Amino acid sequence: MKRITWLLATLLGIAAGTAGAQEKVLNLYSARHYQADEQLYNGFTQKTGIRINRIEGKSNELIERIRNEGANSPADVLLTADAASLAVADSWDIFAPLRSEFLEKRIPAHLRTDKWFAFAVRARMIIFNKRKLKAEDVPTYQSLADPKLKGQICSIPGGHIYNLTLVASLVAHDGEAKTEEWARGVAGNLARNPRGGDTDQIKSVASGECAVAVSNSYYLARLMASDKVEERNMVKRLGIVWPNQGGSGTHINVSGAGLVKMAKNRESAIRFLEYLASDEAQRYFPEGNNEWPVVSTVKFSNEELQELGTFKADQTPLPNIAKQLAVAQKLLDRAGYR
Ligand code: FE
Repeated sequence: MKRITWLLATLLGIAAGTAGAQEKVLNLYSARHYQADEQLYNGFTQKTGIRINRIEGKSNELIERIRNEGANSPADVLLTADAASLAVADSWDIFAPLRSEFLEKRIPAHLRTDKWFAFAVRARMIIFNKRKLKAEDVPTYQSLADPKLKGQICSIPGGHIYNLTLVASLVAHDGEAKTEEWARGVAGNLARNPRGGDTDQIKSVASGECAVAVSNSYYLARLMASDKVEERNMVKRLGIVWPNQGGSGTHINVSGAGLVKMAKNRESAIRFLEYLASDEAQRYFPEGNNEWPVVSTVKFSNEELQELGTFKADQTPLPNIAKQLAVAQKLLDRAGYR
């Protein structure tokens, strides 16, 4: 059995970093789906000489894979987007606790736990069609339930992890009953059945199929910087709102990672996590993927993020939001926001 597992691992291109291997390796399970991440991995290898074996997949698939592999898992680090995914991984006890003075110094407390660390921030912003609405019409997430927006909202599926985490944050702030009422209101305001990703919603707002949608910030920044002129023109029809500036602040989410409990290359794993918080890697997140760095002192150049400006972010610790994920999923189902 052991031999078969080893064979499989080898066939899949994963070196466990044992059996006298001279070369240092890191087995990275990554659910980030951004092409430009290549630079980040190359930067680490150049700096440390540690080669990265990367397994990519959807977050839930990678988590399940690590669980199935059990003690034999070659995974050293799980890197993923969204606090919900990190919380799910943690609930399956996949991460080892890690104390790192460097990480604790670099990453603000509300963006880390003792098991996983956020390395980049994205915000869920409200995007509207300027011919149809004004910023004052949609100042908050809560305002999206207003009946005056009937037939005007485009949305990703209610249970999509980006929406789910946002709704969990609303539960954390407003409670379950109020949030369920809100979800019913939003579901009643939809212009069409929820489908697609954030970029699809932005495009539908620009085309006028709907008047307003919620999207992760980096998708908008990506369109603003597009080399296609029609995409840049499309963005000109859009207005943006940083939601909830008068209250709890705009909901933010993260890309984050943790040390896998069974890590065979523990030292390489810790070096990788610390690398992600280094100035060099932190600059990559804005410059490569339009996400904000978690280390606030890091200087970067990104015209689109500059243009989007600054905003007040919700400082609620992400683990507190993640605790409401199951409640959020159930109330979305009951409200028919699917
Ligand atoms: Fe995304």
